[in-house]
Amino acid sequence: MTIRIVGGGLAGSEAAWQAASRGVPVTLYEMRPVRPTAVHKTDRLAELVCSNSFRGDKLDNAVGLLKAEMRVLDSLVMRAAEASRVPAGAALAVDRERFAEIITQTLGTHPLITIVREEIASIPASSEREPVIVATGPLTSDALSADLALVVGQAHLYFYDAISPIVLAETIDRSKVFRQSRWDRSLGTTVRLKPDTTEETTTEETTTEDPGSVRLQPDPVAGSVRLQPDPLTCGIDDGQGDYLNCPLTRVEYERFYHAVVTAQSATVHDFDKARFFEGCLPIEVMAHRGPDTLRFGPMKPVGLIDPRTQREPYAVVQLRQDNLAGDHFSLVGFQTQITWSDQARVLRMIPGLETAEFVRFGMVHRNTYVNGPAVLAETWQVRARPTLFFAGQMSGVEGYVESAASGLLAGINAAALAKGEAVSSPPRTTAIGALAYYVSHANPAHYEPSNITFGIIQAMEQAPRGKKLRNLALSERALADLQQWVNDRTPQSVPAVSRA
Ligand SMILES: Cc1cc2nc3c(=O)[nH]c(=O)nc-3n(C[C@H](O)[C@H](O)[C@H](O)COP(=O)(O)OP(=O)(O)OC[C@H]3O[C@@H](n4cnc5c(N)ncnc54)[C@H](O)[C@@H]3O)c2cc1C
Repeated sequence: MTIRIVGGGLAGSEAAWQAASRGVPVTLYEMRPVRPTAVHKTDRLAELVCSNSFRGDKLDNAVGLLKAEMRVLDSLVMRAAEASRVPAGAALAVDRERFAEIITQTLGTHPLITIVREEIASIPASSEREPVIVATGPLTSDALSADLALVVGQAHLYFYDAISPIVLAETIDRSKVFRQSRWDRSLGTTVRLKPDTTEETTTEETTTEDPGSVRLQPDPVAGSVRLQPDPLTCGIDDGQGDYLNCPLTRVEYERFYHAVVTAQSATVHDFDKARFFEGCLPIEVMAHRGPDTLRFGPMKPVGLIDPRTQREPYAVVQLRQDNLAGDHFSLVGFQTQITWSDQARVLRMIPGLETAEFVRFGMVHRNTYVNGPAVLAETWQVRARPTLFFAGQMSGVEGYVESAASGLLAGINAAALAKGEAVSSPPRTTAIGALAYYVSHANPAHYEPSNITFGIIQAMEQAPRGKKLRNLALSERALADLQQWVNDRTPQSVPAVSRA
């Protein structure tokens, strides 16, 4: 009895942890450093290739719920994220090096896990006792991609994403920027004991700052939701906020907007096939949609007051701390494919960044993924070959947290299969179950990878009025149902896909 996992990224690492935690030996194949990818920089497992943020961490936000569910299921990715947390308002952001180091150490010293540094060029043979999980991510190596295409047929697709630039902190002109969290919600601010429903409704699943200081923790014993202070936060609120904000006047914004729409964009080869994920649009693509799109997107000023003018700026660029040392800041939501020379020129038009040094420019990258609904079951098993699982971004989800969550469930189910137990997925009322359902049941004719949203979670018949209250109620039900699934998960539970 053993499980072979190909790819030691977020999904593969989480899957290995889950399977080994259930007593099943795991061999984890990771091709780095023997064969690098175009964006990974280290040989560490679970390296974060772009943003250091796992997004919102509150239960009125679907990705916050997904994280809470993962904590209930003892996720290694969540443990490592909390142990390497950096201040980021109510979002969960990490020191990327510390995060990956914790995962690498934990898996490397696990008695049931063997890590092999090798590129796997074809999908290994699998059987009930020896299932295989493929979690090779958006940058799956070419050889394996070719073999994957043979296995999944026409459903093997790809598109492009773009990533945000990072600046050196000491080169930011502090006289022009101000430190503040949106709505003054900084990590570690007073924790209230009940949900504050008087706040403005937050936008759902934003990759930018997520306002709010209430942190809801699931009660794994009772399966209900209760409120408590989070002992794991490492941020100390000094009343100044977690973000550096670069305010723009109307004139400055209009000049900046003009520069963005006239900047030279890097050529995407095979442009016809380039499809950008809506939640990760390059700034120039947003700008081309209209003069105000950026101002209602990553440059929105709402909830920010410039202390020098005591007014809300016309537009704002937010900078978020990118490492624990605090010497790198990323431009929040500023992914771009503008050429590097034009990026330097255009981004230095932002007040405070006139002499900024860029540690990394934004860039374009490939994303490999399968057509989930055509290929996969809710358990992340390949329908036509149930001893083979796909997980992570290449299985058709989008995002760090979603990738890790799919690896979590694939790991649980692969371990169950190897032990001769039934496989299953949590109900669609949970975020993990809803994600699995979406990937396996969306329309294959128009399939697009998805972040978790409340929109894909099964609706409530009698939901409270108001978005925030409704989302909190959905979360409360999800955590109770997840606990029930954990309690009910016995070898007798009904398999989602009959075993081969
Ligand atoms: C450039 C870029 C930026 C992104 N930015 C973000 C972001 O800011 N926020 C976000 O939420 N998501 C982002 N994503 C999307 C996605 O969430 C991440 O890529 C995430 O890391 C996916 O997790 P994964 O485990 O599926 O893949 P990965 O973390 O990429 O792990 C896959 C692993 O498989 C290995 N591998 C590949 N082929 C083979 C092979 N043949 N044999 C052995 N090993 C192999 C790779 O080396 C890698 O370590 C980004 C993706 C890319 C490409």
